[in-house]
Amino acid sequence: MGEFAKTLLECAAGRWTPRTRMEVWEWAEGHVVLSPRLSRFPGPLSLTHTPYMRGEWSPLWAYRRYQHIDNIWAAQTGKTMMLAITVLYDTEVDPGPGMIVYPDKVTAQRRSRRYLMPIIESSIPQLIPDASECFQILEYNLVPCSWVLAWAGSPSVLAGEPVKHLKLDEEAKFQGHTEAEADPKRLAMRRLISFGEFANAFSCTTPSLAHHPGWRDWKGSTQCQYQVQCPRCGTWQTMYFSREDRRWFEPESGDAWEGGIRWDRDPALTLEQRIASAYYLCENQACAMHWSSALRDELVAKGRWVARNPKAGKYASHLASWNAKWVKFSEVIERWLASYKDENARHDFLNSDCAVPYEVMGKQADSNELRKHILKGYHCNTIHEDVAAVVLTADIHDDHIRYRVRGWAPDLTSWGIEEGQMPPYFAALDNLLGSRTYRGPDGAPVPIHYAIVDSGFRTDEVYQLCLRWAGRVWPCRGVSYLRELVQYSRQYVQSDPQRGCPLGGAMVLINANDARWKDLLFARWEVQPGASGAWYVEEEASKEYFEQLTGETKVEEKTPSGHPKFVWRQTHDNHALDCEKMQMIATMAFQIAALRPPRAKQVQGPQRDNVNPWTGRDIGQS
Ligand SMILES: [Zn+2]
Repeated sequence: MGEFAKTLLECAAGRWTPRTRMEVWEWAEGHVVLSPRLSRFPGPLSLTHTPYMRGEWSPLWAYRRYQHIDNIWAAQTGKTMMLAITVLYDTEVDPGPGMIVYPDKVTAQRRSRRYLMPIIESSIPQLIPDASECFQILEYNLVPCSWVLAWAGSPSVLAGEPVKHLKLDEEAKFQGHTEAEADPKRLAMRRLISFGEFANAFSCTTPSLAHHPGWRDWKGSTQCQYQVQCPRCGTWQTMYFSREDRRWFEPESGDAWEGGIRWDRDPALTLEQRIASAYYLCENQACAMHWSSALRDELVAKGRWVARNPKAGKYASHLASWNAKWVKFSEVIERWLASYKDENARHDFLNSDCAVPYEVMGKQADSNELRKHILKGYHCNTIHEDVAAVVLTADIHDDHIRYRVRGWAPDLTSWGIEEGQMPPYFAALDNLLGSRTYRGPDGAPVPIHYAIVDSGFRTDEVYQLCLRWAGRVWPCRGVSYLRELVQYSRQYVQSDPQRGCPLGGAMVLINANDARWKDLLFARWEVQPGASGAWYVEEEASKEYFEQLTGETKVEEKTPSGHPKFVWRQTHDNHALDCEKMQMIATMAFQIAALRPPRAKQVQGPQRDNVNPWTGRDIGQS
């Protein structure tokens, strides 16, 4: 019998130490010991500094009652410690194989060395085996059970042993590569299946974007929020920064609300004076009491958790930074004022202080609008009769190649022929260029005529591909400072077989102003179907393709001198968009508009066999 099956049977037989009757936070205050390396308050843990870790509906209350627990908490609120408490609790009270997943290997090593290992050593030294090889940075083989430290994309996440306890630290930073590929969180969750109802998953994260792990689990959860009671009017309320973050929780009734962190806006005050004036305004307008940071500490100590959907099957909690004792209202205001002119700072403020997602505001393609470009009855892998050139574009990554094939007419009407993703090997592209054909209007096979490949990444390999298909495949790179749409340069490659570059020679490198080509692509989407220059999509185009076309948003930002400028910001995978943008570049690089139409369409007038296509005159019966 395998080790795992044995463990499972033992669990089922209840042979482990029975679960303590204590709540996890009660257990923590009696068992967790902080070393001076970890805390300004060494010794037995006291949760008086983080009172929101106690009480009904708190995450450490939910821990014994829910299998899926997501905590969307601001930075500086103590979530690393909360996660460590659950690791210690599992080890002593409810042991079983566990896995802790971090966004990357460096974070896993750092958190292990600086936090988890010291807290295990100071809290449960009796459970660390004598042999030092049992207690290593990425694997703790403790007496009752073992813990593996993993990271998004690490082998133990992709194909590990079953686990009973799964912890996810900063899961909003786990990036899935594509929509089709299961994301690291879902992969890790699969490890739990064998333990059934004995398994649990506990995650702590600051959010990033709304569709990333973390925030996307909020909907459909218990939606627990922390409330404090105003000492003057007695109103229980969740402290929000402003309507900016409150709209994520109270979407309907936002306008009448008047609470939040405020400051004195008197123009006579200096910036420092304004920051120092920060207070919290009670949301009850009849009361409008101002709370100082010190009063806030007292209110938070007597606060409570409230579940918006107590019947939901999954637990999730939300906590903003200003619930923490060591975060002063004035610091929050200072960070907010600094984020006025800086979109990155605003992103960080919303995520790290408000613990709400960042939303890019601006011009973005709408995937439902884009679906209107699907040409009814037109299918993939067929060539429309007006197509003069078939163009392939490819976006190269280290784990896949995204590609698009499109047929172009000289009036720049175009039809999607094929789109998709292939393994990251150039042989796959060679194969496509060498042997792929599509069914022409008369049934005859039509090959790919030209190709543009993004050379911004894996450049040497792209150049070798272009040399293998000299003249037919051109490299292209995005250059942001370019004034023109494109600039061609001569790229010379030295043959160097030892570096895997057997071919040498010269080629044309396309330098393209990415932002302007994206504008042109967006403009192309305005052309109505049926009109000259229309942009058609085959009926079979995938959901992922349309998703990726909306992966970038054009936003207005201010330069340091205050002038508006437009920039494109990536919101999610945008590889299909890059491919379609390179299709636009191809129309210029390969002079598609100068190509001869495939059929005698250049002649105005009736298209009959008895019309001389050069003169347009009737050649009479013959
Ligand atoms: Zn009040």
